Amino acid sequence: MSDLTLQRLLEHGFDFLTFGLRLILSPTATPTDTKVSVANIQVGLELLIKYRLARDHGLQHICLTGLSSLSTAQIEANAEAGAIKTKKFEWCKQAFVAANAISGYERDLIDRFQRLRNAIVHFGVELPREETISGCAHVILKVVRRIVEPEADPWLSRYLPQDVYQTLIQFPSYVAEAVDDAYESGKDVRLCFECNNETLTTLPGDDHYCFSCGFRIFTEHAPYIDCPYCEGHRTAVYDSLNDDNGIYRGKCVSCEETLLVAKCALCEVEVFPEVFATFDGKKWYCEECYELVANPTVHRTLRDKAAQRR
Ligand SMILES: [Zn+2]
Ligand SMILES: [Zn+2]
Ligand SMILES: [Zn+2]
Repeated sequence: MSDLTLQRLLEHGFDFLTFGLRLILSPTATPTDTKVSVANIQVGLELLIKYRLARDHGLQHICLTGLSSLSTAQIEANAEAGAIKTKKFEWCKQAFVAANAISGYERDLIDRFQRLRNAIVHFGVELPREETISGCAHVILKVVRRIVEPEADPWLSRYLPQDVYQTLIQFPSYVAEAVDDAYESGKDVRLCFECNNETLTTLPGDDHYCFSCGFRIFTEHAPYIDCPYCEGHRTAVYDSLNDDNGIYRGKCVSCEETLLVAKCALCEVEVFPEVFATFDGKKWYCEECYELVANPTVHRTLRDKAAQRR
């Protein structure tokens, strides 16, 4: 199968998912919007599962019996003419579940979402919007992630448009599910310095993973240090992989202050340019090391935000 067809199937699935999410997350969503939204999220899920089966086993795998003997090129040509039908969702779901050894919990999530969708779509049952979103959230957090098997995190922001992504990761019932997942899955649950939710946890493989926004980073790349503002012990964290001229961006998960971090040019201890550090015009130094550097051009920067806060 051409990569183009596969890519189109993937984008097609996310188009429906995005449409449904944008509708239900809107503050002005009506009960009708909620119903239409669930139907679209269901179609998105169905298409994404078919995408995954086609990716792993070829386009023939998802076509109705009788069409599966056609070549990929023939299927693609016939699909454009509307002459190809794919297998029912129930069959695809079973095939996906069987092939990917998904957990009983994940399987249960799909079934629960199906029941939600059946109640809403087949019988017009009106469920509270919050409850509906939390049902959809679990499917997105767990099942869609497993379907797309992202090569790198954060994954969700690469598949959803920014407006939908940003609303979703701050939506209370979505975040509540993510918080539960974080506490069930890891240790040391903290505020995520990407999305600000209490959903960043240390997984058994020793990397930090955020269950809201999908941010993932190895512990050694996100060191926890003492906060210069609230003096919390190892409550501040910074992204040691990305710097801007030697300045790293960080945040304290206790007092929630954002901070800039630099490293001492001699001993590599973290210093805080906004609070207290010594800069010689090119490099940053900690106080002790600066005493060792006899440089007449050295000047000190001192903007004690900590003092201002007190
Ligand atoms: Zn996050
Ligand atoms: Zn702090
Ligand atoms: Zn030093």
